Amino acid sequence: MPDAAVRHVMGISGGKDSAALALHMRDRVPEMEYFFCDTGAELPETYEYLQRLEVGLGKPIARLNAEQGFEHWLRVYQGALPSPQMRWCTKVLKIKPLEAWIGEAETVSYVAIRADENRDGYISHKPNISAVYPFKEDGIDKAGVMRILDDAGIGLPSYYEWRTRSGCYFCFFQRKAEWVGLAERHPDLFEQAVAFEEKAGYEAQAMQGRSYTWSHKESLRELAGRRVEIMTKHEAALARERRKQTNVPLIDVMAGVLDEDDDTLACQMCQL
Ligand code: SF4
Repeated sequence: MPDAAVRHVMGISGGKDSAALALHMRDRVPEMEYFFCDTGAELPETYEYLQRLEVGLGKPIARLNAEQGFEHWLRVYQGALPSPQMRWCTKVLKIKPLEAWIGEAETVSYVAIRADENRDGYISHKPNISAVYPFKEDGIDKAGVMRILDDAGIGLPSYYEWRTRSGCYFCFFQRKAEWVGLAERHPDLFEQAVAFEEKAGYEAQAMQGRSYTWSHKESLRELAGRRVEIMTKHEAALARERRKQTNVPLIDVMAGVLDEDDDTLACQMCQL
């Protein structure tokens, strides 16, 4: 029986694993506090999925917002877009608001790493926060996650039709085909990402020499110009993957293709 003086918290990322863990823990730890670190730049599909999940959980998911949004921090970081090498966005938009919300209370954080994964996820260095891994303890793998979501009638977030990870619409961990997906599904958000990139480019020129793009080695405008080429290659890879993996959901086919395409590590805090 959990100790009532200790807080029990679980982060919801907007992805399938944390949604399944929330449902798995619903009756096991009824006092669980669910939270979502909201950068203000999440996909509309993510916000819709959170609402669906709240119905399944029968309780709200606390939205944790940073006091200042992305644009403020972009100015603080002198127009330098966040990148895998300089991931200031996670620190200021997710970790800081989370640690402020938790405060000094003794806290157990439930982490949605599956039994078939070999990684730790985000672990706070604050001494009052300890992490537990119920999926690992209970031997729940990807098939188990899908079963939990199906049984609860929650299913998968709808962005999985075109993107394999949750997170900000401009996340630099996106693969080329996912950027094209953003341009097709959410042209307004794609244009906003272009605007951030172009502004960063002008500021970098003014400061001589640095250049920032969201996607590796090309600007989003250049990437959009190669849309047909990118999607032709992506469709061919999907078809190859489908022949290799029959009877598996689209998300697994896409993950196979996109992982082949780009082996950049995803954000462990954002995409559980
Ligand atoms: S989802 Fe991507 S852009 Fe957003 S905070 Fe995480 S790493 Fe940064």
